[in-house]
Parts: sequence; structure tokens; C-alpha cells
Amino acid sequence: AKAEGRNTYQIYNETMDAESRRRATVLASLRKALDRGEFRLVYQPRMALADGRITGVESLLRWHSAELGEIPPTVFIPLAEESGLILQIGDWVLSEALQTLKRWRANGLNEVSIGINVSVLQLLRGNLPQQLRTLMQDLGVPSNRIELEVTESMVMQNAEQTTHVLNELRKLGITLAIDDFGTGYSSLVYLKRLPIDTLKIDKEFIGDLTRDPDDEAITATVITMGHSLGLNVIAEGVESEQQLSYLREQGCDEIQGFWLSPPLDSHRCLAFIRSWQPGTVA
Ligand code: C2E
Ligand code: CA
Ligand code: CA
Ligand code: CA
Repeated sequence: AKAEGRNTYQIYNETMDAESRRRATVLASLRKALDRGEFRLVYQPRMALADGRITGVESLLRWHSAELGEIPPTVFIPLAEESGLILQIGDWVLSEALQTLKRWRANGLNEVSIGINVSVLQLLRGNLPQQLRTLMQDLGVPSNRIELEVTESMVMQNAEQTTHVLNELRKLGITLAIDDFGTGYSSLVYLKRLPIDTLKIDKEFIGDLTRDPDDEAITATVITMGHSLGLNVIAEGVESEQQLSYLREQGCDEIQGFWLSPPLDSHRCLAFIRSWQPGTVA
């Protein structure tokens, strides 16, 4: 039993070493990714359930590393946050997303909003409002078509420090969404106090809708609670007609997910939005 124990420990240790070596490798490549132009944004449309219109898109970051190939954001975003690289990467994302918004508006898409994921580190740095004001001025894009998404767990853990910045952003006319809602522990007091416009229900709860009564209860509760706080409620990760009709029955405002469209590059997304016929689903 003793030998076995040691063995297990060794294997565990080797696994850990392999894991941290892998992380170091990815991080080394990540440091070069911006200079090498290895990032791109893709855009996923979302739709209002009331009238079937495309209301906006979410920008999602993609990284193709020359050495490592395509690395998913669930792998590199945490590394970028731990290393602080997310600040420079986040700057690139903001500028790129707003340039896309400008181009789409020049193509007549004036009603569409762009959702941008921001790390809490970008909020804590403090200059985000000034940075966005400059970008909006330089590019000539309006604040009311920009929505920032911050994850629930991050914003709630730092509610005291981030409230001021969130208020500043709100004053600029930018809207704010709480992302991955339901996965963290929100105090209702903060939900009421923070200058939030939108709740995005995490796809974890949407995936099993119409199969898991618990997920249905959570989803229905979040929609009701969001509405009683005057918030717009979006469900992410909607893949099926059944999920869609459940959300429609519960009065959810908007949906996003593979049922509507996967994330697309900016040209394909523009074409998708232009050819979309709201009448077919509403
Ligand atoms: P998120 O903000 O919750 O984004 C939603 C994720 O769900 C995206 O994963 C999207 O591709 C995926 N998705 C969309 N529709 C469906 C569906 O119908 N079914 C399923 N199963 N998945 C769907 P992705 O692109 O891998 O992004 C993962 C996370 O990485 C994001 O989660 C977000 O937290 C983070 N992220 C992505 N881009 C950025 C960025 O520019 N900045 C920051 N700070 N974080 C980002
Ligand atoms: Ca998001
Ligand atoms: Ca999510
Ligand atoms: Ca998220």
C-alpha cells in the first residue's frame, strides 16, 4: 500500500509538472501574440424574442498561435488574466470591436449593438472610461451601441472597487451586462446598487432546459428577478427550438446561441444580419 501511495504521488507530481510546463509554453507564445497579429475577433448575433430582430452581437476573441495552433479562450484568457497580459489584449479587443461597429454602421447597420467582454482587471485599472471616450470620438461611434460584459463572480468580488468605474461608463451612455449570471453568488443588494442594464444567463443553465427541472427553475427565477429589477435578460447558449420556446414562454428578452448562429467573422456576420428575416421566428 505504501509503494502504491508513493506511485500515486509520483504520477500526480508528474501530471502537475506536465501541466505547468504546458502553461509556461502557452504563456510564452501568448506574450508574442499581439505583436505577431495572431488575434482576431468573431461575432455572434443575438435576437429579441418579442419581434425576432437582431439586436446586437457579442465579440469573442480567437487566437491562432504560430507554434501551438488554435488555442481556445477558455485556456488563454485565464493565463492572460494571471499574467496581466489581458490589459494589452483588452485594449486591442476594444479598438478592433469598435472599428467593426464603425464599418457596419457605414454599411447601414445603425441599430445593432456590440457586446464586448472585459476583464475585471480592465475595470480596476481605472482608465477604461477615458479610453472608451477617446475611441468613440476618434471612430465616431455612439456609446449607446456599446455594451460591456463583465462576469458575475469577478464584479461581485470587487463590487466596492468597481462601482465607481461602472458608474463612469454608465454616464458615458455605455450599457453594462453581468455575464455568466447564476454561476457566482450575487448579493441582491449589489444587483440593485450596481449600474447594470442586462443579465446574461449562463449557458450552463440553458443546455438542460426542458430536461432538468432545476435548471428550468433557476432560469425562470432569474428572468423574473431580472425583470423586477428593470433589467434586460439574455439567455446564452441556446441550441434548440425547445429551449427557445421555453425561454419565450418565460418572457426572456433575448437569446444568443447556435440555434441562431455560431460566432462568425465580421464579413459573414454583417451578411447574416443583413439577410435575416425577423418574421420567420417571431
Ligand atoms: P462567454 O462570454 O460566456 O461567451 C459565451 C461562450 O459560449 C463563447 O465561448 C461562445 O463561443 C460559446 N457559445 C455560443 N453559443 C453557444 C451555444 O449555442 N452552445 C454552446 N455550448 N456554446 C456556445 P468562447 O468563444 O470559447 O469564449 C469563452 C469565454 O472566453 C467567454 O465566455 C468569455 O468569458 C471569454 N472571452 C472571450 N472573448 C473575450 C474577450 O475579448 N475578452 C475577455 N476578457 N474574455 C473573453
Ligand atoms: Ca460574454
Ligand atoms: Ca457564459
Ligand atoms: Ca463568460
